[in-house]
Amino acid sequence: MNCSTLVASLFVLAVLGGTAQAATTDCPRKDALGTSRVIAVDAATYPRVGLKSFPQSLPLRDKEVVLTFDDGPWPPTTKKVLAALAQECVHATFFLIGKPASEHPDIVKLIEAGGHTIGHHSWSHPDLAHMPESDAISQIDRGIAADEKALHGTATTTPSTPFFRFPGFQSTPALLDLMQSRGISVFGADLWASDWHEMSSKQELELLIRRLKEARKGIILLHDPKAHTAAMLPAFLRYLRENDYHVVQVVPKQATVDISRTP
Ligand SMILES: [Zn+2]
Repeated sequence: MNCSTLVASLFVLAVLGGTAQAATTDCPRKDALGTSRVIAVDAATYPRVGLKSFPQSLPLRDKEVVLTFDDGPWPPTTKKVLAALAQECVHATFFLIGKPASEHPDIVKLIEAGGHTIGHHSWSHPDLAHMPESDAISQIDRGIAADEKALHGTATTTPSTPFFRFPGFQSTPALLDLMQSRGISVFGADLWASDWHEMSSKQELELLIRRLKEARKGIILLHDPKAHTAAMLPAFLRYLRENDYHVVQVVPKQATVDISRTP
């Protein structure tokens, strides 16, 4: 083997080509719900998903759900949500607001350490559809930069996970096109618990189960800063486990990975 061979770069496609089995073997509870599989998402294939806003959603099978949490981080409720997810060994996606992310980088790192996916949700959660477009873009970029700074110490506007959810699902065609051109998938939702309203955790659980029975599958929107949602989550996860639902995690589809080495 000569030197040029040794220094040649080796390119491999990421193992997460389309779907891959999640590693569930490290779950300490054998009867936990677990994450059943992972779907790798890229903006070319899935520029916009979520039937509440768009015609397309993720390719979920019957009784598969994707759990998403918006508007955090917000200690201590985010910690309760993380504990409930860890108890059942399931991985979710958190769409973070940049300002609280900059104030609570420890919680952002805790979310990442739990194996969850971190998407973006603007800097301070305004209605991006009803402001000058340049201001909306600033909100998007400042939010991404704050989340990245909290995660990795560098305030880059190139997100390591290119997933974005518009606050209140308020987007414009121009902003949607911009996100697609930047390779960022825009997430809507397929169903939600309407947990932005005041309600008891019991009411929220009943409402969510009723809607899930109708939809049978989908991207579920919840809010981790809501105390009633954090309180409801353990029972909801238990419901999923006892009724044969499966939790799917969404992750960014990897670009070509360069694992070149020098001898
Ligand atoms: Zn929100």
